[in-house]
Amino acid sequence: MSLTRAPIATMASGAEVALYLHTLVGSAGDGPTVGICAAIHGNERTSTEIVLEASRAFSGLDFKGRLMLAPVANPLAFEANHRHTPTDEINLNRVFPGQSGGWFSEQLALVLSREFLDKIDVLIDIHSGGDRPTVDYVYIRNAERLSRAFGSRVLYRGAPDKQGTLFAGTSVSVTEKRDVPSVTIELGGGLIDQRPYVGRGIRGLTNILATLGMLDREPTPSPDQIVVDSIVTSRPRMGGFLETEAPALGETIGAGACLGRVIHPQTFEELDRIDNQVSNGIMILSHLTRNVVQPGDYGYMVGSISV
Ligand SMILES: [Zn+2]
Repeated sequence: MSLTRAPIATMASGAEVALYLHTLVGSAGDGPTVGICAAIHGNERTSTEIVLEASRAFSGLDFKGRLMLAPVANPLAFEANHRHTPTDEINLNRVFPGQSGGWFSEQLALVLSREFLDKIDVLIDIHSGGDRPTVDYVYIRNAERLSRAFGSRVLYRGAPDKQGTLFAGTSVSVTEKRDVPSVTIELGGGLIDQRPYVGRGIRGLTNILATLGMLDREPTPSPDQIVVDSIVTSRPRMGGFLETEAPALGETIGAGACLGRVIHPQTFEELDRIDNQVSNGIMILSHLTRNVVQPGDYGYMVGSISV
């Protein structure tokens, strides 16, 4: 395994910020270079845990091709435990491919594009749910077989916008231009034990490698999977304790069912009730413990099951 340090910039403090990229060269011969990145959003730390464990697991495997790992794509946001880069409050995953004279996040995006996204044949971009919400689904982009191979129950096939991308400026918008098969994974997060999600992450990545023919084994068939074609995000209107009533992630929910209630932490009154608006819905993001939320935080995400 080799480690490359790609400098990004010297900050006002004098501290140097750099990206670290690991390259694992398989011992079983030629094959594609699969790039796995995490923490494009700095508070999604389960994604980085998955890459850490993947590096340990895959170091001992005979595989074809190469793996490139970018465990912390946004180091300053990771340090601050923020979704966006604290220096400029920009969402890194909206400014790819970046530019050299732009905001810090745009400079960072440019380094990621040149040093990572432009050098890989397959992209696996891992996201998670941050400190409080927990999430569980996989995007179907230009590589449905690989997205399905990860093994999550719920898949999301979003409708492209006029530019042909789901969100402009994402990591996948760079790789899709080169027809690089790309998978975006949303998994884990919340104030619960992350080990089951990390374990699923390793099994899912292993199965993607098997599906690509990089491992000397047959891929494991995926479980029954459900495809959603739209997602509704419901945010609390008030802050306080959020008490979830929604069913578990991956369970179905009907329109009008209560997702959760916001309780005033001092007076104990009910400030808000969040109802599901999706008929034929399925839970894909939720709060699994009684979490403190701000108005407008991530509350719940419900997918609309394709018919
Ligand atoms: Zn994210």
